Amino acid sequence: MERRELIKSMLAAPALPAAAQQQYARAMNGLPPLKITGAKVITTSGGRGYRWIFLKLTTNEPGLYGIGSANNHFQTQAVVAALEHHLIPWLIGKDADRIEDLWQSAHYRTYWRQGPVANNVLSALDMALWDIKGKRASMPVYDLLGGKARDAVPCYDHIGGRTKEECVEGVRKSMEKGFRHIRVQFGEGGYGGGGFYGKGQGERPEGGYQGMAFDEEKYVNAIPPVFDYVRSQVGFEPKLLHDTHSHLSGANAVEFCRRMQPYQMFFVEDVLAPEQISWYRQVRQICSTPQAVGEVFSHTYEWLPLVTERLIDFVRCRVAASGGITAVKKMATLCEYFGVKTAFQEGGENDPVNQLAAYHVDISSTAFGIQEENNFPPLVDEMMPGTAQIRRGYLYGSGKPGLGIDINEELMAKHPMQPIRGGGAYPTDRGLDGSVVRP
Ligand code: MG
Repeated sequence: MERRELIKSMLAAPALPAAAQQQYARAMNGLPPLKITGAKVITTSGGRGYRWIFLKLTTNEPGLYGIGSANNHFQTQAVVAALEHHLIPWLIGKDADRIEDLWQSAHYRTYWRQGPVANNVLSALDMALWDIKGKRASMPVYDLLGGKARDAVPCYDHIGGRTKEECVEGVRKSMEKGFRHIRVQFGEGGYGGGGFYGKGQGERPEGGYQGMAFDEEKYVNAIPPVFDYVRSQVGFEPKLLHDTHSHLSGANAVEFCRRMQPYQMFFVEDVLAPEQISWYRQVRQICSTPQAVGEVFSHTYEWLPLVTERLIDFVRCRVAASGGITAVKKMATLCEYFGVKTAFQEGGENDPVNQLAAYHVDISSTAFGIQEENNFPPLVDEMMPGTAQIRRGYLYGSGKPGLGIDINEELMAKHPMQPIRGGGAYPTDRGLDGSVVRP
């Protein structure tokens, strides 16, 4: 059999045994570069109102394709249009082997760069290229990144309670499930819970806003006693986390971190909005409560000074919002030299491809700190075979070549995204006077 015929026949097979993998690897040696011959944007929903966007790249090697995530729940159609009208016409015919070159040229292709939509597009391209390279090499992407630096990826769990007793109950249940790292949120109103006046409560302007209203000082007073109680009940064995979701400003953020110091937090997250990152220097000067920052960062210069000046402890960017595996692997390597760790954002409206992109960097990086957990409805295991699994607090990839995940396009087509209402906007919190609170 000719080498090309051999390769074609092997690629057509769903899984290669070890001997065949070696044969394939030998056969690939010296072949001409891969060309990207096709690209398709796939939108779908695995349930829960997800608005998922995937990019599928096909190549001139029969059966060899890659998948990337361009997840953006709040500007979904802008990302779809950017992929279909701006990336794909530019991409077809390019060399799929040259990931770094394609990353750089795709990055500068937009002239203005590093906005969230541009990064989503770049991330989808990058993940799909790593997926292709891994499949071609018959290796999981983490092996291409240097191999496993840990056996599996520790994740933190999410729990919430309306009362401090419910918080304790939640922590105990999470520990029973095997989690050692547990994020504890309090009260009603979502992020900022504990700091809200109920609907119509508190002094309001005449004829003004009557919804739940956030108050910074109320929040700063409410949360530390919750952790005081949780620690008194569960001790210091579990590693506790809390997400402020940018709801504080200036001195209130500093004071909040100071008051959280006795509870030995694993980290507090985004105590400040990205517009206010200069305050982290003041936080550092007054306490050692570890800081996780950057869920909504999209530009390198948002996290770079925080890392190089050691003003934070964890970088919390989302892989699909940061430029993909290539970008966050570089970020992690830089963090390693400054003693800062990674805690990639995943959860909520995220998807299994973004989760796996984070997984491959997590498991191969010395800068790894923790991974946010995410879980999906049972449908997703069928829709996306190879979706990573969490067992006893650890995330496991499939171990298959590439990202290790596939897509069932027929099933995806049966579960389209629902129509986007109200522009798909992220909900806005407000204060008693009706003013906007940063999310
Ligand atoms: Mg967060």
